[in-house]
Amino acid sequence: MRLALAEATHAARGGDVPVGAVVLAPDGSTVLAAGHNEREATGDPTAHAEVLAIRRAAARLGDRWRLTGCTLVVTLEPCTMCAGALVQSRVDRVVYGARDDKAGAAGSLWDVVRDRRLNHRPEVIEGVLAEECALLLTDFFRDR
Ligand SMILES: [Zn+2]
Repeated sequence: MRLALAEATHAARGGDVPVGAVVLAPDGSTVLAAGHNEREATGDPTAHAEVLAIRRAAARLGDRWRLTGCTLVVTLEPCTMCAGALVQSRVDRVVYGARDDKAGAAGSLWDVVRDRRLNHRPEVIEGVLAEECALLLTDFFRDR
């Protein structure tokens, strides 16, 4: 989560909402990929931290799109798009910091990642360094 927080600060520097994500290999410690929000920087509406990290992790693995055994760590609860991408990528675990009561799709507003109607449901661990993750966001929006 410290690495994801560091990623999040890169997003803020580019004018993007400070959210950062990392994908850990099945060993739980090797960082496969990282990402931060780049919507403003790239003009891509889908350039959320999680989507970018997932894409890079899959590219790094080379010949497979499934991130089976991997863990995605993100500073903010995933939105519906990212929750969908997490289910599609088959990650085993999603760890997030701050809850997003307005748009969260991993327990707050929706729970897409643990929807029993889906055939893949990652484990969800929330609240890791939640205050630090949330503070980054409140500082960003206060300064705007
Ligand atoms: Zn998202």
